Amino acid sequence: MKLSGMEISWEKLFRAFKHLFSKEGRNTIRRVVRHDLSVPLFMAQSGFSRSYIPDPASVIVEITNRCNLKCLMCVRRYWDTDANPLGEMSYEFFEKNILVHLKPYQHVNLQGVGESLISENFLPMLKACKKLGCWTTFITNGVSLKKYADLLVSIGVDEIKLSVDGTESMKKIRNISISKVTEAIDAVNEAKIKQNRKQPAICINYVLTRDTLPELPELIEIVSTRGISKIIVVHLIIHDAHLIEQSVIPIYSEAKAYFDTATAAAKRYGIDLELPPAPGSKCICYQPFRMIYINWYGDVRPCCMSTINEKGALLVGNLNDSTLPELWNNTYMHKLRKSLITEKEMAEMCVLCPMRVFSMEAHIHLLENGAKDAVGLPSK
Ligand code: SF4
Repeated sequence: MKLSGMEISWEKLFRAFKHLFSKEGRNTIRRVVRHDLSVPLFMAQSGFSRSYIPDPASVIVEITNRCNLKCLMCVRRYWDTDANPLGEMSYEFFEKNILVHLKPYQHVNLQGVGESLISENFLPMLKACKKLGCWTTFITNGVSLKKYADLLVSIGVDEIKLSVDGTESMKKIRNISISKVTEAIDAVNEAKIKQNRKQPAICINYVLTRDTLPELPELIEIVSTRGISKIIVVHLIIHDAHLIEQSVIPIYSEAKAYFDTATAAAKRYGIDLELPPAPGSKCICYQPFRMIYINWYGDVRPCCMSTINEKGALLVGNLNDSTLPELWNNTYMHKLRKSLITEKEMAEMCVLCPMRVFSMEAHIHLLENGAKDAVGLPSK
């Protein structure tokens, strides 16, 4: 038979229908719906007194804020060490306060400002999330990935995101060589072949700096045969004044030649390349509509820009005092969502946040004013 001009067999159609009505198929549909923002945005924009959203589409769990590297641009290098004690979430805390509230159609990102693979609780947590049916991912610097490649593939993690900054520059920025990362990718690919698995997808997170910009096309060549599905290029977040000179935002137009070469190479190799936004634009921040971030000590935060303890950081509450569903739809979250839609009574951190205002001004504002108290929002 023909469907929208495509030849399709009855057998294939039957299999698709069968999947659609299976438990797994139903979860896939719910996952797609949850990640579609139209319902929560309609509710928030239509002036309902409460922008109630059933569950976060993504739950981000910081298993640990410890790390085995000390990268040049990482927030861990510049944070207040007294306000941000190092530690890790216990499996008991995770099970009692997070796992019991997770739904099979949710995305779970087992990652924070630390390196998840160095925590002994990471694999048990990952197994529990997979057993529940959640779509799981985590970000890693790749140092320990080769060691765990077989295990991760057998557990069925859905996606691994690797932090890569340049090719030659990796040594200067991360003090490891690019070969450490490519060896880890190869180990995951070998494990996939050995176990006859399609997952995990492997993605790359690439921080754009003046050093890493010219190396982007070369990185694409290096990983071109390694089954990378996506490369996400992001602007450098400036956590210290000396990093200002590394930002590519002031020279964005000059960067175009590198972006064009990288785009052509990515297209050639079938890699999905996501480039950072051009300066001058602005958008609505959707993060508090779709995700929640949980620190290892139970603090709950509404976005990726507010993941550490600093004055002015956005804090929804703590899991030792309230449950995850209570916090997800509490007054604080409601006011925050509303402020992002209406652009009124915004928290100081949101006013010129680099996630909604794409300019150098926003990055400098974050650097200089991140320490101010939030305005217009209650602390809980
Ligand atoms: S605008 Fe920035 S600080 Fe505010 S919620 Fe969004 S990501 Fe967080």
